[in-house]
Amino acid sequence: GNISQPRLPSYLKTSIPTGSSFNKIKKDLRGLGLHTVCEEARCPNIGECWGGGSNSSLAARDEAAKRKATATIMLMGDTCTRGCRFCSVKTSRTPSPLDPHEPENTAEAIKRWGLGYIVLTSVDRDDLPDGGAAHFAETIMKIKQKAPDTNVEALTSDYAGNLQSVSLVARSGLDVYAHNIETVERLTPFVRDRRANFRQSLSVLRHAKSEGVKITKTSIMLGLGEEDSEIMHALEELRKNDVDVVTFGQYMRPTKRHMKVVRYVPPEEFDHWRDVAERMGFLYVASGPLVRSSYKAGEFFIENALR
Ligand code: SF4
Ligand code: SF4
Repeated sequence: GNISQPRLPSYLKTSIPTGSSFNKIKKDLRGLGLHTVCEEARCPNIGECWGGGSNSSLAARDEAAKRKATATIMLMGDTCTRGCRFCSVKTSRTPSPLDPHEPENTAEAIKRWGLGYIVLTSVDRDDLPDGGAAHFAETIMKIKQKAPDTNVEALTSDYAGNLQSVSLVARSGLDVYAHNIETVERLTPFVRDRRANFRQSLSVLRHAKSEGVKITKTSIMLGLGEEDSEIMHALEELRKNDVDVVTFGQYMRPTKRHMKVVRYVPPEEFDHWRDVAERMGFLYVASGPLVRSSYKAGEFFIENALR
């Protein structure tokens, strides 16, 4: 078999935006003490997300664009108790204790930043009895108190199947509950940490919905060796569990120690999956080689969810 990596197609070679307006936003952010995944993962979509879809970060100062602008913030430290084979976050069984001031400080910073849509995510904290759910929920409640116009998406752990933790976050006042299945059922044990599983992830999404969350969301990476029939199966299971939003993106190998890309999926196939998922009744779908789970989430939310 062919064990070498396929060649990187040109449409995946992107440059990180630079220029004075972009640097100004970055500098503002430093002052706020927030850690964004956008910056730390050097996400290629940062110009589009922070610019609110205008592809110009200058526009982030324009109020209309700011309403649609999206950023992803990482809570509960930089060290995860799990080790998924696609993820570059550091792993330890004993990460640092939670910062009790983080909920308040994060909310204050978001209020000052004034973006319309915030995705809050975190490392998995299997070392904590509730997986950090109470801390996560407190952060959302504080954001909603201080910046009530900010739409909040929580992208959470599976809490090792602890549905009480899911409830805590689901009842915090958030707008979108997201949890990523990452891949099809068959590949889950090879892609995600062994504590994760496909059925458990579906139960998290179903439970969040049963707690009154209006919009639930998940993401799938393509290029890991999945078959079309397996993607179909995953989409059917998601619909059966009332999941509203799905995104598809290309898996990109962060380092040589991570799992290989099996295939670079051409853009037309991403279009195909968007059409399929839309026909299956998903409320909205983002699909493309560079799409990440939070890709332009604010823009999609404003255009679709509030219709
Ligand atoms: Fe940030 Fe997500 Fe947008 Fe990337 S896709 S810039 S991580 S909000
Ligand atoms: Fe990365 Fe999340 Fe897996 Fe932790 S649980 S290794 S942060 S993908």
